[in-house]
Amino acid sequence: MAGEGLRPGLATVIAGDSYPAHAYERRVRRLAEDLGCHYACEALPADVAEADAVAATGKLNADPRISGILVLRPLPPQVSEAALYRALDPLKDIECVHPVNAGLLALDRPRFVPSTPASVFHLLDRYLEESGDDAAEFYRSSSVVIVGRSANVGRPAAMLAMQRGATVISCDVHSARAGLLHDHVAAADILVVAAGVPGLLGGEHVKDGVIAVDVGINAVPDQVIGGVRLVGDLDYDSVAARARAVTPVPGGVGPVTYTRLLHNTVAAARAGLGVAMARPWTEGLVSAPG
Ligand code: NAD
Repeated sequence: MAGEGLRPGLATVIAGDSYPAHAYERRVRRLAEDLGCHYACEALPADVAEADAVAATGKLNADPRISGILVLRPLPPQVSEAALYRALDPLKDIECVHPVNAGLLALDRPRFVPSTPASVFHLLDRYLEESGDDAAEFYRSSSVVIVGRSANVGRPAAMLAMQRGATVISCDVHSARAGLLHDHVAAADILVVAAGVPGLLGGEHVKDGVIAVDVGINAVPDQVIGGVRLVGDLDYDSVAARARAVTPVPGGVGPVTYTRLLHNTVAAARAGLGVAMARPWTEGLVSAPG
């Protein structure tokens, strides 16, 4: 990249004192700096006005050293996620949350594939390939159940499953309240859980041979270590006893997400200079037939 005169730049927008948001910001900063990227953070106070948060995002849009911008959640209640997402330059929106980019993703023409869902399907695609399955055929003949429907994770994950030709069921908190969640989960050939509820689903809920991807990262108190530990949305041991494969937390999706984030940052930097990626941004996508 240096040989191409390319120094990708990554920026974050963070508002308030959320512990997980700051922990994520520190990790992203370290990663960017270790890889020689330019890094900038707009750290805003918890009482920032929405207009000022939008202006801070605009500053990063205008900074030629920045190729990709990441809005960290949660935001304080007076700052709407939708307003900040709309304020992003779509060409720097590496998490694909600007309405134009979300629309392109929904139409199967993604400019960027958001890092967390991309890493979910990176793991699934590689796993199927390495197991000797015909991945395209496997998806087309599978029920993929996605638990969680956020704009950042669950919703784009459902789009990526549809692009692979799967039969997709998207569940959220309303499915649980309506008593529909467990029936859908029990039918899943591939289960992706991104609800942010520790131990939401266990072995008793899944079918034998399910392939399960746990996106949840939840800090729970641990009396033994006298602090907190990270757990997923799945009860790992009981799911592992019935699953064909399951991803652990910590580990699993999280570390791959960082590499996908950097991949998108480099893609944005190259696009800014008119340099094509060696591999297309949609690398790893299996198109649905017809
Ligand atoms: P979010 O709070 O924005 O969305 C949660 C979704 O889950 C919502 O659609 C909600 O309706 C649904 N939900 C909540 N309770 C439910 C229930 N009981 N049954 C069914 N659905 C339920 O969260 P998010 O940003 O999408 O993140 C979800 C989880 O993934 C969190 O634990 C987060 O920390 C984690 N996460 C991990 C990564 C990673 O790289 N591994 C990246 C982003 C988020």
